[in-house]
Amino acid sequence: MCLTMLDFTSPASPIEIKRIHQLFLESLNQDRICYTPHCPYTAINSHVVQKKRVLSQIASNGKFRELRWPDGTLPHRFSSAGINKTDVLSFPGFCGNEGNDCDRKIFSPIEPTKPNETIDFLSYSNQILFSYRATICELHKMDSWISTYHKIISDNTFSKPTRRYYKQHALPEFKKNRRSTLYLKRILESEMKQPSVPNRFTFHVASLPFIEVVGSGVFGAATSLEFIDSKKSTGAAFIHAIPENNFTTLIIGYDNGVKEIEGIPIKSLDKALSDKKMLATVIFTIFIKRIETWGISEKFYQELHATGLDEEILQLIEFYLPVARKSQPFFFDVLGLLEDRKKALLNTDGQDARESFISLVRNEPH
Ligand SMILES: [Zn+2]
Repeated sequence: MCLTMLDFTSPASPIEIKRIHQLFLESLNQDRICYTPHCPYTAINSHVVQKKRVLSQIASNGKFRELRWPDGTLPHRFSSAGINKTDVLSFPGFCGNEGNDCDRKIFSPIEPTKPNETIDFLSYSNQILFSYRATICELHKMDSWISTYHKIISDNTFSKPTRRYYKQHALPEFKKNRRSTLYLKRILESEMKQPSVPNRFTFHVASLPFIEVVGSGVFGAATSLEFIDSKKSTGAAFIHAIPENNFTTLIIGYDNGVKEIEGIPIKSLDKALSDKKMLATVIFTIFIKRIETWGISEKFYQELHATGLDEEILQLIEFYLPVARKSQPFFFDVLGLLEDRKKALLNTDGQDARESFISLVRNEPH
């Protein structure tokens, strides 16, 4: 779920929004206690997908393009980011070897270290691990927003209407969402303890060559993550796009009881994902509307950029920020659009450019 702009009706002035974003960035980078229950150690920064085996595969010269919101007043961008930097697609979730080594102990099955080891994407326990990490990443973001809201409320250099709005609307809303996400965390933890028990979640796996996209997130398949009754479906869904060995593997999962994902009925999901174009469409549609933690390779970015599709994706991300718009049906056929644009470029601009180039060369005095 994309939570950054739940407060799009905030009365904050542009200057205040900039300050709020700054406070949020400070909260994001604050030390955190490990999210493992009862573990007292400080969390280290870890990547939402493995750096060594996954991010490094799509990087050119150690860099790729991460979706970023550089400033509270500026729109989202695909920023060039070095994968060796700890802040790229990463968050402080679990402790390292100076504590209980939770990060390594929990996630080692999806972070193979030996060269000939591969990740088993079809394993239910691994699918749960990817989803658990995405859920903790979301929880960490919520905690950062909640601490930001507390700072705004107690800082009287913010205007009265702004402080009132965050106290009466934003804070209660985020606290409610946090409770729901904590609840999802507990369900996932119980799945991790007893993987042989009838599975509460269902996952679909498909792979796609050519498109180098990476990301991982949790979102509310129906409306938002609001649930308390353990017998009911939480409505939570997960998406993980993991490039490895020249393929991008997509894992889509959901709490049983979810009826559709972005308008695709669950019973048609396998069929939709078996089609290369539709698979790319599903990935980009969900990433654009619902997920903040993702990026693309420099190579794929350049293709999108040459056809103007990078700007369109960014505009769509801005458009779909308000929660109320997320339920509007929308499909982003990235491969179809890319093909059409390439053809159009060759037939018109490309042709014109070549012709004018030829006539220029011919008419050039020797
Ligand atoms: Zn720990």
